[in-house]
Amino acid sequence: RSGAWPLWQRLAARDAAFGRPQAFCGDIARSQWVTFTVTHADDRFVRRMAAFSGNEPGRGGLVTLVDSSWRLTFHLFHPPAYPDQPPGTHVWWGYGLFADPPGDFVAKPMPACSGREILTEVVGQLGWQDELPALLDGANCVPCLLPYTTSQFMPRSPGDRPPVVPPGYTGLALVGQYCEIPDNVVYTVEYSIHSAALAVASLLGAPGVVPPAYHGLDHPHALVGAIRRVLE
Ligand SMILES: Cc1cc2nc3c(=O)[nH]c(=O)nc-3n(C[C@H](O)[C@H](O)[C@H](O)COP(=O)(O)OP(=O)(O)OC[C@H]3O[C@@H](n4cnc5c(N)ncnc54)[C@H](O)[C@@H]3O)c2cc1C
Repeated sequence: RSGAWPLWQRLAARDAAFGRPQAFCGDIARSQWVTFTVTHADDRFVRRMAAFSGNEPGRGGLVTLVDSSWRLTFHLFHPPAYPDQPPGTHVWWGYGLFADPPGDFVAKPMPACSGREILTEVVGQLGWQDELPALLDGANCVPCLLPYTTSQFMPRSPGDRPPVVPPGYTGLALVGQYCEIPDNVVYTVEYSIHSAALAVASLLGAPGVVPPAYHGLDHPHALVGAIRRVLE
């Protein structure tokens, strides 16, 4: 794991003003995801997915296979996703929210699976077994277990997240996903940027100059859109 966790733990051990990192990093079984990145040497998979979803690669949203025991979600990138990506190759990325149960097409928990087995499960969920050998042959699927993916969302109590500038400190601030910013939402790049802006402004004595977080749901169009989607 990255050095950021031990650093926070050392600070918190010295002074309760730094919060309680254990609330977020203490239960890996509840915060882990298995993600996987798939590279195809041909466009067989993306062509079939485009026909199935009606979206060209990169133009659709996340696709969640709601009946899959791993609760698989994936997203196709518009090529090239990477600067040196060879023409004709395609890359997409996915994850499983519930990694522990056996898959529906591969009888193993997700962390025990090879990339090939994870891709077999995805293809099975999509009902494309007729093309399975060809889809597997042209693909390289690389799994990656992320132990702290949803650690920001672990149950927490007041004080677990320290304020950006802990009380009593004048030359030190905390930035990132685990400091407390009232009225903002974690798991966004915006949250970390907001914390950095608050850190600089607070240490310079002008926290009020930082604009508040944007509240999209206060916007009538967003609200109407959300209600429509719920009713669909
Ligand atoms: C799968 C996934 C999908 C996401 N999707 C979105 C999305 O669609 N939109 C969105 O807004 N957010 C998304 N997020 C969240 C977003 O990626 C994070 O909230 C954001 O990257 C946090 O930024 P950060 O700079 O605080 O931390 P990080 O991006 O984690 O950066 C911290 C850096 O510090 C380095 N570091 C750690 N320890 C040390 C050390 N001791 N010395 C030096 N360097 C160190 C690390 O290597 C790392 O580069 C997603 C996150 C994940 C995991």
